[in-house]
Amino acid sequence: MAGGAPGDGGPPPGQAGGPGAGTGGPILGWHAHLYYATPEERALAAAIRAEIAALFPAAVLGRWRDGPVGPHPRAMYQVAFGPGLFPAFVPWLALNRRGLTVLLHPETGRQRADHSAHAMWLGEVLPLKLEVLPA
Ligand code: ZN
Repeated sequence: MAGGAPGDGGPPPGQAGGPGAGTGGPILGWHAHLYYATPEERALAAAIRAEIAALFPAAVLGRWRDGPVGPHPRAMYQVAFGPGLFPAFVPWLALNRRGLTVLLHPETGRQRADHSAHAMWLGEVLPLKLEVLPA
């Protein structure tokens, strides 16, 4: 009778989806969406963008979107990054967002959940147009 008591629970931590287990997963990557509403906020977003490019060259900077697009109700640009960059980049962003609102969401392939149940916000929480996303 090796291997412990029979029926003593589910899979050990780190299996059955690992860190991505839950309502989705695994997490293939992350997006940070940096929102701005005024010329002043756009200038702040530009300064942050330059710092991201210098400090986190592995992050992929999306193009400027000077108006609502997709589920996003406000002008923004996107920063795409892999799970390995999260522990360095997200704390840096928390300290350097200069008051801008930031949506952080994982990419699990479930877009609507990734932008709602799975999402994190720095600053204000904006109402997203979730109905445009596949469930
Ligand atoms: Zn996104």
